This record gives sequence, structure tokens and C-alpha cells, in this order.
Amino acid sequence: MKINYLITDRTGGVSAPPYESLNIAYHVGDDPEAVRRNREIVAQKTGVQAIQYANQIHGKEVRYIEHLIEPAPECDGFVTDRPGIGLAIMSADCYGVLLFDPKGIIAAVHAGRAGATLGIVTEAIEKMRDLGALTIHAVISPGIHRCCYEISSELAAQYEPKYIYGRHLDIKALLYDQLRAENVESITDYAICTACDRRYYSYRRDGTTGRFASIIWMEA
Ligand SMILES: [Zn+2]
Repeated sequence: MKINYLITDRTGGVSAPPYESLNIAYHVGDDPEAVRRNREIVAQKTGVQAIQYANQIHGKEVRYIEHLIEPAPECDGFVTDRPGIGLAIMSADCYGVLLFDPKGIIAAVHAGRAGATLGIVTEAIEKMRDLGALTIHAVISPGIHRCCYEISSELAAQYEPKYIYGRHLDIKALLYDQLRAENVESITDYAICTACDRRYYSYRRDGTTGRFASIIWMEA
């Protein structure tokens, strides 16, 4: 099974500032016609007709996708064993974590502080195993690194000290610990901080802004 993934950045779309230019999210205040066009541009890059988006709510629900669900369901992750469906996560600081077993089982999760804390990566891997996945590989999109992710001291006190640097939380360390606890075969990490790197949308840096996409699919 040929498995592909794509992580978009700000470039190549039609949205005007402050969303310029390849914003794929309808919920951020951008012109819906521009978002529709941007999603078409992204779909063309993947070659997949059906791309499943979510109404993301910073939870831990991972839904099995058999065919495209419209309107976008409320959840923060998808898993499928069906070729020809792209599983898409939108983010601007949160991480998109893409998971695949080369045999033909894929997943995509939205993991910001809330999702990572709730264990959404573990949740997705369990769902993949239920479908028969044995050997799982992970890809971690750009996201906000600890350099730029300061939280309140009250919040910081809720985390194990190994995740806290001063008052900065290392969300990615939470993700790595979940991936390693599940014995994933490999981790491909973009190692880019969205708040440091202006090629990506960053909610922390810019407030009102767009979202980039992390998409995984199997060729039909
Ligand atoms: Zn940074």
C-alpha cells in the first residue's frame, strides 16, 4: 500500500492578510470562498478527491473513517484502513501527528497541549491496533516548541517536572513519550517551531491567523 503525507505551509494559496495565503480553516474568520479554493489547491497537491477535515475541539476522540463524513465531525483524530481518503488536521502551533502502518492503516491526530495531555496519540495507536496495525511509524508536523510556549505557573504545576523548563511546557516531549511507550518503529520530526518560523501559521505569535494542514492518505 502506497502511503503519502503532506504538510502545508503559508504559501501557494489565495487568502488575503492576515490569513495569507494557504489557509485551510473556515472557522478563523477568513473569506469562505478563499478557504474553499485553498482546500482545492491542497487536494490537487495530494491527488486525493476526498479529504476528511474535523471540527477540532481539543479533545481525544479519534474516529474511524469509512467514507467521507459531511459536515466535518467533532473530533481531534481520524483512523482508516481505506485507500483514497485523506485524513486532515488543521493547526497553527498545535501538532499534527500522522501515523501509519505500511500494511495499510493510517491515522492523523490534532495534538496541542490539551490533546497531548489527554493522550490522543496513545488513543489513535490503540485504534490502529484494533484494526490490526503492528508496525507503526510517526510523523510530527511543525508546532510550537518549548522556546515559545510559556504557560501559567498554575498550569505548569500540573505537569511532571521533566516537561517544564522555567514556565515553558514541552508539548513535543509529551508526544514523544506516548510514541515511545507504544514502541513505534520510527519518528520523523519536522523539528520546526511555528512561533519562530514565519513560514507557518502561529496562533501564539499572530492571534488572528490561518491554519496549515497535515494530511495522510493511501493511494487508491
Ligand atoms: Zn519557538
